[in-house]
Order: sequence, then structure tokens, then C-alpha cells
Amino acid sequence: MHTRDDARPAGQPLIIPIFIPHMGCPHQCIFCNQRAITGKTAQTPSVDQIQLEVNRFLKYGKKRPSTTQISFFGGSFLGLEKKTIRSLLRAAMPFVQAKEVDSIRFSTRPDAISPESLSLLDGFPVATVELGVQSMNDRVLYAAGRGHRASDTQAAAGQLKNRGYEMGLQMMVGLPADNDDGAMETARRIAELEPDFVRIYPTLVLEGSPLAGGYRDGRYRPMPLAACVTLVKRLFLYFNAHHIPVVRMGLQAADGLTRTGGLIAGPYHPAFGHLVHGEIVLDAVSSALDQMEKRPDPLTISVHPGMVSRVQGLHKQNISRLKTAFDLKNIVLHQDGRLAKGHLVVAGEHITLP
Ligand code: SF4
Repeated sequence: MHTRDDARPAGQPLIIPIFIPHMGCPHQCIFCNQRAITGKTAQTPSVDQIQLEVNRFLKYGKKRPSTTQISFFGGSFLGLEKKTIRSLLRAAMPFVQAKEVDSIRFSTRPDAISPESLSLLDGFPVATVELGVQSMNDRVLYAAGRGHRASDTQAAAGQLKNRGYEMGLQMMVGLPADNDDGAMETARRIAELEPDFVRIYPTLVLEGSPLAGGYRDGRYRPMPLAACVTLVKRLFLYFNAHHIPVVRMGLQAADGLTRTGGLIAGPYHPAFGHLVHGEIVLDAVSSALDQMEKRPDPLTISVHPGMVSRVQGLHKQNISRLKTAFDLKNIVLHQDGRLAKGHLVVAGEHITLP
């Protein structure tokens, strides 16, 4: 399994996901349980299955946005056999020719990118390629059993850029031998590669992965959820400051956790991104209150109706934390549809969120 791979790019086009298990992947990343599941539930979909799935999506999918893509996710696409790559692309091609779908996207390992592998894509309408970078620190990559180096990612990113692909880079936090500073350094080196978007995933302990053994005998301790949310928030803000969209933070059940079962431990939360954004709001409101000489009580926060849950935080934790930190008896959330999302008014003071 390659739970790190997914496909929802910036701008949220309609993505038609086709899961491609990486049968016989020669690698064994410590966080991956693909060997445990290969041969049991994993099958490369046939051309007929792909066409059925795409037609099902096109029929029942949401209102069509500006862009629709068929996404091969779940494995290292360019690590598959050449004939499999070609047959998958050929299965998707007619939908693009019929203008029902705009283009194709896939995710792959950095060391699967080469002039030869990219030439397999010639003539096919592939627009977007995502790389599972995970870390830009060779020591961390080695400890994770990735089998590639940061220089492979740099070389791969250069080739993708030269060929004009939209490029997404995925990084992980909480890998063995990594820490907060290491993650920030990975973000800095990823930003240098000028991706069109990034995804940030926490390291989770999955049944059947080598990490599960390390967890059970105490050699690996996953990040606590709160620390992980705070680190991912710092990364989000870093990428945001460099105008790089973060299209996903955290895994969702649909990423394969439920497909394979087996989440043993780690900072998983079904609304991980929501937790990150909630903490960003908490920081922004706290900073505004810090600067006020006199804080009104009750404190009124005006917010777009679509932002209420973000301001409240999970289980309204933001409200209780603000009350405790600033000794407030009451906080009133005032919904104001005229306010743009991403804007708050705290006791009359306008705040723009990152
Ligand atoms: S490259 Fe690593 S994460 Fe991807 S399928 Fe192989 S072992 Fe799993």
C-alpha cells in the first residue's frame, strides 16, 4: 500500500481515483504495509474495471468543476511494468479524447523518474505528477527504508519541471530519525523545488508494516496528535508564506486505512486539516487579544458562517482555551455572511488569517 499517494490538487478539480496497488514493489518503506496486503486484496484493475469506474464517476460525480482528472494513485505508477503503465494510460485515454475528462495524473517515487520512464508518457494526456518525497534528509530516508536519496527528488523535480508537468510533492512528519527542525528543513528544500502544491502526512503505524514491530518493542514512538498538529501548522504556514498551496494535511479513511484496516497507532484524526486550521485561528485570535490593553468581556468574534467550526476548534476547544488564557467569562460568536472566509473581527479588530 502507498497510503501517501492521493490526488486532489489545488483548485479542487473533480478527481476520479483509480487505486493501483504496487504489486511486487521491491522496496519496503518502514511505514508501508503493502507486503502484508499484496496478493490478498491487491489487484491492478483491468481496462474494463477502469472504464466502469470512470463512467460511474462521470455519471454520479458532483457538479462538474473546471477540471476533471483520472488519477492513478496508491502505488509508484512509473515503478510498474512498462506494459502495465501503457495499458492503464490507454484505458484512460478515450475519456480525454471524448472530452469527458481533461487529463491524467498519478503519483510515483522520485527514483522512478528518468528520461526513459517519462518517455512512456509521450502521447498521453498526463498533466500532473506527484512525488512521494517524504523527507529531504538522507539519514531520515535511510531510516525509513525508502531506498532513494534527496538528490533523486531534486533530479526528478527538475525533469518534471522541464517537461512542463504540474508537480505535487508529498512529505511526511514523524518518521524515525526526524524531528521538528528536520521537517522544517525538508519544507525549505521542497519549496526550493517550486512545486505547484504539496501534501503533508503524519507517520502512522499500520499493521503489517516494519514500523509496527518497532512500535511494539518500543523502538519507535509516534508523534502525539497535538504535537503533530502544531508541527504541520508550522509547515502549512511556511508553504503558505512561499505561495505553495497545501492541498492535504493528514490521511483520510479513504486513503486506504479502511481498505486495509490496521491502524495501530499514530497521530491519526479524520479531520486532521481542520485541527490545523483551528490552531491557526487560535493563534491569530490570541495574538490579537495579547495586543489589546483592555479586553471586552463578553468578547465578540464575528465570523463568516462557514468558518464557525474552525473558530470554535474541535469540541469547542478554542473557546475554552481562549477563556482560560485571557480570563474571559463569555465569548460570543457572531455569524456575519458579509465577512469573507479567512477574515475575523475580534472585539472590533479585523484579522486576516493566513
Ligand atoms: S515505495 Fe514504499 S510506500 Fe510505496 S509501495 Fe513500495 S514500500 Fe510501499
